[in-house]
Amino acid sequence: MRSMNIDLHIHSSFSDGAFSPTELVGIAVQQDVRAMAIADHDSVAGVEEATNAGSAIGVTVLSAVELSVKFEEWQDVHLLGYGINCKDEKFLLNLDGFRCRREGRNGDILERVNACLHAEGRSRLNIENVLAFARGSIGRPHIARALLERGYVNTVEDAFRRYLVPCNVPKSYWPMDEAIAEIHRIGGVAVLAHPTSISKDLARLGPVIDALHLLGLDGIEVYNNMGWPLEIEFLRRTAEESGLLMTAGSDFHGIEEGLEIGRGREGIRFDSALLAPLYERIDSVRG
Ligand code: AMP
Ligand code: FE
Ligand code: FE
Ligand code: ZN
Repeated sequence: MRSMNIDLHIHSSFSDGAFSPTELVGIAVQQDVRAMAIADHDSVAGVEEATNAGSAIGVTVLSAVELSVKFEEWQDVHLLGYGINCKDEKFLLNLDGFRCRREGRNGDILERVNACLHAEGRSRLNIENVLAFARGSIGRPHIARALLERGYVNTVEDAFRRYLVPCNVPKSYWPMDEAIAEIHRIGGVAVLAHPTSISKDLARLGPVIDALHLLGLDGIEVYNNMGWPLEIEFLRRTAEESGLLMTAGSDFHGIEEGLEIGRGREGIRFDSALLAPLYERIDSVRG
């Protein structure tokens, strides 16, 4: 029998992923992934479609979202919510607000990018060029694709390095304690995404994870696409020693080179053994 993989961090076209939820379920099946989560930025619009596509083909879909959060001096910490009620009206209104505030920010970033393009003697991008790649929660990756389409950059990474990091404008962020409380209120568990994005200095990262645990964090994404084996081992040990849940997710957007659903860097498999403790914790949050 072939072993079962999971992938709890996948982006769809409802945020900055290239594929629809239905297409993602189809790709996941081909990778032997039998449980997955669409964790879009500021949106849960893809969860229902994925759930329906999954149940037709034998893939379990766990509801999820990825929130942008601030904590102490760190901005844009990514927090995953799993098992959440995607129909909670107050939560949906909150997400609407975050997506709306992205609109003003996207315009500001585009102005900065256009100033760079003008200085290089290139023609401007219009918001329509960006919206052509978007249907939900819109952000810098959509501007990256517009730059790629024009041939101004060769890869999405190149677009970030040359334009979107230097021209960035901060988003609006959830305060960490509010984000964790909101995820719990709607029956979910809160998991820190790609923890090394906070700091690659593990002596610095450890105490931050401890502080988040005290605030009510339930788990950390031990197996993720950002981590190298030594970092993953550090995260695994941290979770084991502190009693935090461990999760696994590729952060697949469908545009990164060499990244597959169900696997991390260097082909590390995401094992389904992580699922049972996660479901147990979701049950205990829901009481
Ligand atoms: P935004 O929420 O608009 O700031 O966009 C952030 C998203 O851009 C992240 O969730 C990633 O999907 C993507 N991203 C951020 N940095 C990079 C990078 N250096 N290369 C490629 N994609 C990136
Ligand atoms: Fe993203
Ligand atoms: Fe993220
Ligand atoms: Zn993500």
